[in-house]
Amino acid sequence: MVEGMKLGCRCGQVRGRIAAHPHWQGNRLTCYCKDCRAYLQHLERADCLNEFGGTDIYQVPPAHITISQGQAQLACLQLTQRGVYRFYTQCCNTPVGNCFSAFWPMVGIVHSFVLESLDEQVGPTTGSVYCRDALARVPDELKGARSHKVMVLRLMAKLLAWKLCGKNSPSVFFVSGEPCVAPQQLAPGSAVDKG
Ligand SMILES: [Zn+2]
Ligand SMILES: [Zn+2]
Repeated sequence: MVEGMKLGCRCGQVRGRIAAHPHWQGNRLTCYCKDCRAYLQHLERADCLNEFGGTDIYQVPPAHITISQGQAQLACLQLTQRGVYRFYTQCCNTPVGNCFSAFWPMVGIVHSFVLESLDEQVGPTTGSVYCRDALARVPDELKGARSHKVMVLRLMAKLLAWKLCGKNSPSVFFVSGEPCVAPQQLAPGSAVDKG
């Protein structure tokens, strides 16, 4: 089991929690894709990237996330019209997490929104994706044990299991299938947003 973890923005207005859950219902990875980087750079939070331009993400089913205060501070970005929904807090530009849609039972919580040490609570990153988009060659010891292909296959298996368990709802990020706040779109028609 992974213990419950406190969530919060850096100014303290938004507070929440990841509920305690079995290990298989969480997945820590580092994403080096350009879109995750563009999202943090747009928020002027490049300080949340690692030195190779990667984002440390903990993927969990939305049903495990609660927001206890400051829900109205949540804002949403989309890099492209059909891109991933990327949530942040408008009070202090804390990156919160990424979701594909209300249908998919997964939110990638950005480490900046977790008030506790992911290393201590869930252990090191299990693998990295989109290393080819990193700012420099990512050393093997930082990548984690699993390759991009294995990580994608594992994620698909988890998505299926979480969907079958109905873990896509309730979600603090969606209301009646739509994002809880209207997403701001950055650059319609530009590159594909991979998540
Ligand atoms: Zn804040
Ligand atoms: Zn990414």
